[in-house]
Amino acid sequence: ISILAIESSCDETSASIILNGKVLNNIVATQSVHEKYGGVVPELASRAHQENIIPVVHEALESSGIRKNDLSAIAFTRGPGLMGALLVGVSFAKSMAYALKIPLIEINHMQAHVLAHFIEDPKPNFPFICLTVSGGHTQLVLVKDYLDMQVIGETRDDAVGEAFDKTAKLLGLPYPGGPLIDKYAQSGNPKAFEFPITRMPELDYSFSGIKTAVLYFLRDQLQQNPTFIEENLNDLCASIQHSLIEMLLIKLKVAVKQYGVKDVAIAGGVSANSGLRNALTDLATKRGWNIFIPKFEYCTDNAAMIAMAAHYKYLKGDFSSMDVTPLAKMKI
Ligand code: ATP
Ligand code: MG
Ligand code: FE
Repeated sequence: ISILAIESSCDETSASIILNGKVLNNIVATQSVHEKYGGVVPELASRAHQENIIPVVHEALESSGIRKNDLSAIAFTRGPGLMGALLVGVSFAKSMAYALKIPLIEINHMQAHVLAHFIEDPKPNFPFICLTVSGGHTQLVLVKDYLDMQVIGETRDDAVGEAFDKTAKLLGLPYPGGPLIDKYAQSGNPKAFEFPITRMPELDYSFSGIKTAVLYFLRDQLQQNPTFIEENLNDLCASIQHSLIEMLLIKLKVAVKQYGVKDVAIAGGVSANSGLRNALTDLATKRGWNIFIPKFEYCTDNAAMIAMAAHYKYLKGDFSSMDVTPLAKMKI
């Protein structure tokens, strides 16, 4: 079984080939046009996907040594994501499957973020809980099987990645600010400033409050000292990051206890955060959890995770019809 998978939900155009369940490659073209706008501009993303998709697919096929006539299926991200961005991948996948007369496999992007854990060893055992933390989502997912997942908690407003990026912007850092907060936080004091921990009912999250708290805090401080940010950048980053991680872990602890699982995973771009990784590693040691953190390449958007999900769907014969359309919103 050899499948070509395509990812185009946001600002990464990516293609990957999977052969009998083994990912052979993961070609990613990251769009840099968005940097100067401080966030992803949907129309520019669609245009960049159109430019990148053929070279990216070509490179994936070329470097895998698999000819397109030997492919068993074409997989693509159906949603959730930016409509115009998804449309490029969906249309491309459809045309290619039609031309080659092979099945088409639609993939849910959030399910794929979880299945990134099965690309390489070690792999978690079912059932496990996956905390998916990305630019657009924050979800606690109970994973019962490869294609059987349930969202048991999620954010009611901003995603945690968004909270990182928006507070970074308030500090004058360029987009995406998440990795920079991580970097400066490493030499800062997480207890220097106190930002609020928002507590939502049950296993849900809210990350919009911290943005406002940081905004007002900085406004007050800057009135007294115009160079407050420069003088305290490391401590500010460490303190903001500390609050965000606290909020993530409070609910994760409740979820793990409530569902009685031993294996705990994290997925999505924010799982690259070193503070989160360290805090999670400590917690795992204390509580006897087995934790799983994918390689960075498989944390952010990539087609390898789409390919992995496609492999399991292929085994079940779960194919899509030719009139499938993208979905900006799509439930796991
Ligand atoms: P979604 O999957 O929800 O559609 P997305 O695909 O845009 O969103 P990802 O590519 O998985 O999200 O992750 C991007 C996010 O990860 C950005 O918000 C970025 O700031 C954040 N991020 C990446 N590295 C780090 C880091 N080291 N620390 C904190 N945040 C980080
Ligand atoms: Mg991205
Ligand atoms: Fe993503």
